[in-house]
Amino acid sequence: MDLDLTTSVGLSNQYLRYNKKYFLGRLPRIGVLWRKPYDSNHAAEFVTYTDGVEVILINPKLKRFENYTLQTMLHEMCHVKLRNHPNPKVCTGHGKLFHKEMLRLAKLGAFRSLW
Ligand SMILES: [Zn+2]
Repeated sequence: MDLDLTTSVGLSNQYLRYNKKYFLGRLPRIGVLWRKPYDSNHAAEFVTYTDGVEVILINPKLKRFENYTLQTMLHEMCHVKLRNHPNPKVCTGHGKLFHKEMLRLAKLGAFRSLW
């Protein structure tokens, strides 16, 4: 079953699929939206609003590039996984733990058809 990744519903369903497949379903059920990140030059952003709602925003500029969109989603999902780390830099940054998580996904084959 292929999802329509041109809609936010399709993106959110893909998130659920990746969550189940690569994160044992342990990431929170959050929405993934086609919406410009705060910095519109960024491909995507994981945001926690002041009311506690968490979302991943993916820049609509990526819409025509499905592989890049999926790679970007997996990247943001690593930030989601690390979101509760006591050091906030670990959540938002691309340090050692972030790379470890990306490598874990790569070894599981998450990027196999994407790069
Ligand atoms: Zn990042």
